[in-house]
Amino acid sequence: MSYEHCAKCGKGLPSGGVKYIISINIIADFDGILPEMVDDEEIARLLQEAEKMDQETLEKEVHQEMAYLLCKPCRDTFAENPLNLSLKSLSMEGIFPGLLQ
Ligand SMILES: [Zn+2]
Repeated sequence: MSYEHCAKCGKGLPSGGVKYIISINIIADFDGILPEMVDDEEIARLLQEAEKMDQETLEKEVHQEMAYLLCKPCRDTFAENPLNLSLKSLSMEGIFPGLLQ
């Protein structure tokens, strides 16, 4: 029997057992609007900064994928609070007020 391990707690996950893949996609959001305060000089500075970054870092700034294998208790903990917010922030209205309208 082969074992995999939970990425969070390290518990062994036997073949055929209950386990979960947490897949995370982080994608840069652009609404098409540039702040009015950004002038040509600022854009040139930002482009220079981007040219100094390596390809992998630049790609991660735009899109990053991650996947983790978790046991059920770690999956449940993750699903309850995926953004690791403090208990005070855990109402849906507090997380993203515009989403519930
Ligand atoms: Zn675990």
